[in-house]
Amino acid sequence: MEYDYLVVGSGLYGSVFARQKAEQGARVLIIEKRNHIAGNAFTEKINGIDVHRYGAHIFHTSNREVWDYVNRFAEFNRFTNSPVARWHDEVYSLPFSMYTFNKLWGVTKPEHAKEIIEEQRRAAGVEEPRNLEEQAIFLVGTDVYEKLIKGYTEKQWGRSCRELPAFIIRRLPVRYTYNNNYFNDIYQGIPTEGYTAMVANILDHGNISLQLGEDYLLNRDKWRQKAGTVVWTGQLDAWFDYRLGNLEYRSLRFETEVLNTSNYQGNAVVNYTDKETPWLRIIEHKWFRFPRDEENDEFAGTVITREFSTEWSPGEEPYYPINDERNKKLCEAYQELAKQEKNVIFGGRLGEYRYYDMDQVILAALNAARESE
Ligand code: FAD
Ligand code: UDP
Repeated sequence: MEYDYLVVGSGLYGSVFARQKAEQGARVLIIEKRNHIAGNAFTEKINGIDVHRYGAHIFHTSNREVWDYVNRFAEFNRFTNSPVARWHDEVYSLPFSMYTFNKLWGVTKPEHAKEIIEEQRRAAGVEEPRNLEEQAIFLVGTDVYEKLIKGYTEKQWGRSCRELPAFIIRRLPVRYTYNNNYFNDIYQGIPTEGYTAMVANILDHGNISLQLGEDYLLNRDKWRQKAGTVVWTGQLDAWFDYRLGNLEYRSLRFETEVLNTSNYQGNAVVNYTDKETPWLRIIEHKWFRFPRDEENDEFAGTVITREFSTEWSPGEEPYYPINDERNKKLCEAYQELAKQEKNVIFGGRLGEYRYYDMDQVILAALNAARESE
């Protein structure tokens, strides 16, 4: 065998796993079907601005090992995510905090915000939330649900909030303080040179070879013979030729535009929470830089990306796993098959069919590399 490991996919999972093994002396070949590295975290320069091609990626973690790890390969800026929610022409602060409650109800004190939410929760009769709608009303009341959650969530998932699991909305903090940091994690930021440069540094090791534009599934026999162990970060069901049926996803469409204005929306991320606006959010990439210095802007224009959530069908780019009973059961059945597969490691967002953030993917790759020592 030419290599000890064949890693399929150069996203964060594949790259971190490859690096760990390379440092232990293993020979690693990575193949990637796209024409670039870094998976969905990929960034590319347009007019000097790092553009997040597959949607806004903000790194956040409370895991010191993961934070130290990424800082070996990139310098991080001090970007703090504070998205703005736009409901028709009204603008609200996210996540749900005293800024949001003040704008909605004019309250200035936490206890008054709590009273209003408690009243709305009681009026809606929600005691034990069974789905996303009930969970949202339970946490923040009907006004916030109607203006800032319902439209956005139903656009994002293409399903009624009553059919979605409660845990999705528990990703968002609810705060009775004036704090509009979207995340609760200890560490947060964005690589100053972009994620692609960070991943290039991770892959920069004498024991790692990389081939772009190669799809494992188009020539399984050739690739399988290259290494003793395969690390699979593609779709879990694709490895098994979809023999138990298709796992489902939500897909996304991105429309990127270079504009001749220096400041389009005044913030990196604006979520459109009404159901009438067809896109989910707009990102203005220059504001991911830190400090957000308008005076020293080298590029007079700006780059924005509209993100649309779309139905997925086989062959389209899979982004978000669908968290419903059918897919959960099917995923478990595939995981049973995966356990029986010899010398194959299944990892990452697609390989494990999990709604993973970047830090969780990195930790999972570090752990998998340790376990397979
Ligand atoms: P991927 O990045 O998907 O990499 C898998 C790679 O495998 C891809 O490059 C793919 O082309 C390749 N591949 C698949 N099949 C094959 C094949 N057959 N042959 C060869 N190559 C193959 N996380 C955060 O922490 N913060 C955020 O703000 C954040 N925002 C996000 C926004 C959006 C819109 C999305 C979609 C995700 C976001 N994430 C965020 C999650 C983050 O993108 C993932 O956690 C991370 O990129 C997953 O890495 P991965 O290596 O598992 O998968
Ligand atoms: N959400 C919402 N309104 C918003 C932002 C988020 O209702 O303005 C909900 C939505 O259901 C989403 C969930 O909160 O799926 C989690 O949001 P997060 O930003 O964590 O989602 P991501 O884009 O990272 O998947």
